[in-house]
Amino acid sequence: MNAVVSTTLDRANQSFLEWKSVNVAERVVYLQQVKAKLLANLQEYGKCMTLDMHKPIRQAVAEAEKSARLIDYYIENGEEILKGRTIKTDWTETYTVNDPLGVILGVMPWNFPFWQVFRFAIPAILAGNTVVVKHASNVPLSAKALEECFSIEGFEQVYFNITVSGKEVDAIIESPIIKGVSLTGSEAAGSSVGKKAGELIKPVVLELGGSNAFIVREDVDIDAIIQTAINARFQNTGQSCIAGKRFLIHNSIKQEFTDKLVEAVKLIKFGDLMDHETNIGLMAREDLAVELETIMNDSVKMGAKVLVGGKRDGAKFEPTVITDVTDQMPAFQLETFGPLAVIVGYETFDEAISMSNDSRFGLGVAMFSKDVEYLKSKVHEFDEGAVFINEMVISDPRVPFGGNKFSGIGREMAEEGLLSFVNKKSVVIK
Ligand code: NDP
Repeated sequence: MNAVVSTTLDRANQSFLEWKSVNVAERVVYLQQVKAKLLANLQEYGKCMTLDMHKPIRQAVAEAEKSARLIDYYIENGEEILKGRTIKTDWTETYTVNDPLGVILGVMPWNFPFWQVFRFAIPAILAGNTVVVKHASNVPLSAKALEECFSIEGFEQVYFNITVSGKEVDAIIESPIIKGVSLTGSEAAGSSVGKKAGELIKPVVLELGGSNAFIVREDVDIDAIIQTAINARFQNTGQSCIAGKRFLIHNSIKQEFTDKLVEAVKLIKFGDLMDHETNIGLMAREDLAVELETIMNDSVKMGAKVLVGGKRDGAKFEPTVITDVTDQMPAFQLETFGPLAVIVGYETFDEAISMSNDSRFGLGVAMFSKDVEYLKSKVHEFDEGAVFINEMVISDPRVPFGGNKFSGIGREMAEEGLLSFVNKKSVVIK
C-alpha cells in the first residue's frame, strides 16, 4: 500500500474515533449540509460526470438531484432505523443497539458516478462510520468533486477519496483499519473483493451485474408501455445494472411491440453532451463499446437480426434492437452493458419465467399485464432481488436494492442499507 493511502487510512480511523461519539441528530445536521452543498452545485457536479464518462448533462444533473433525495430519505428516517428495538423476554430488559463498525471501504463504478457513491456513503456515515472511497479510474473529476461535497466546515472529515487501481484494493482490505467493504461493479471485481473480505471475515456488500428481463403479456396496451421500455433499456446509454436487457414478449404481440419499439428507438438522438436536449451519450469507454459490439456480432452470426442501429464508431454505439434471439446466444446469456435491446418471443408465461431465470444474474425483473393479481401470484417464482409490476425496475432510496446469484450479496438503501455496516449489538439486563 502506498504511503498516501496508508496515511489516509490512519486519518479516517482517527476521524472515526471522534465521529462515532457524535449523536445521530448531529450527524443528520451534517447530512443536511451535504445535501445543501450538492444542490448548490448541481450544474458543476453534473459537468464533472459528463466530462468523465459522457453522460448527457441533463441526466447528470438529474443524477445529482436523485442523490439529494436519497439524503432526504435518511434525514427523515435515519434516527428511527438506527435506534434498535426492544425484545420481549423474561429478563428485566432486552434490546438491541446499532453501533458503527469503523472505517468502511467503498469501491465504486463509473456508470452513476454520484448516485452509487451516495447510496453507499450516506448510510455508512449516518451510522457513525467513516468511509474511504476508491472510485473508478475513469471518473477522476467526479471522485474529487465528491470528496469536496462531503467536506463540511465545522464537521469532522468523514469521507476520504483515494486514487488507486483495482489491483491495489486487496492490500487495502487487508489493513486492520478497514472494517467492511462495499463494491458496485463487475462480477470479476466483486468476486475478487468478496474473496479477500471473506478470507479476513469482514462484512461485504456486492452490487454486481444484471440481465433483467422485461416481460410483456398479451393483454397490454403496447402504446402505453413503449416509453417505459425505452427508458428501461436506453437510460444512461444502456449502462445500468438494472436496465431491462432481455425483452420477453408474448408471441401474439411480438411483431407489434417490436415495430413500435424500433420506431421509438429511431427518435433517440445523439448530440452535444452539454446540450440539455441530448438524451443519449457515448459509452463511457471504447473498450466497453467494443465488448458490446462483439456480443451483438456473435449473436448475429448465430441467427439474430439487427432491426435498427448496430453500428459503432469509437465509444459511440447506435441505439440498437435485435430480434430472433435464442437462449443460446451471447446477447441472451451475457450482460449487455450498453444501448442494445434484445427481443425474444414466448408462448406461455411459465416459459417466460423460465427464460427470465435462465441467467447467471438475479437482480430484477419487470413485467406488464392488466391482470396484476395474476402477476402477483407469480412473484415467488422469480430468482430476482426485485420484482416490478407494470413499472420498470428502478432504484429508490425507500426500497431495498440488491441481487441474488451473480448479481451480488446484501442490500443497499432503505432500512437494510443503513444497517449494512453496523454492529447489531444485543443488550440483556437481568
Ligand atoms: P469494474 O468492475 O472493473 O469497475 C468497477 C470498480 O471496481 C472500479 O472502481 C474498478 O477500479 C474496481 N475494480 C476493478 N477490478 C478490481 C479488483 N480486482 N479488485 C477491486 N476493485 C476492482 O468494471 P468495468 O469498468 O471494467 O466495467 C466492466 C463491466 O462491469 C461492465 O460492462 C458491466 O457489465 C459491469 N459493471 C457493472 C456495474 C453495476 O452498476 N453493477 C458498474 C460498472 C460496471 P478501476 O476503475 O481502477 O479498474
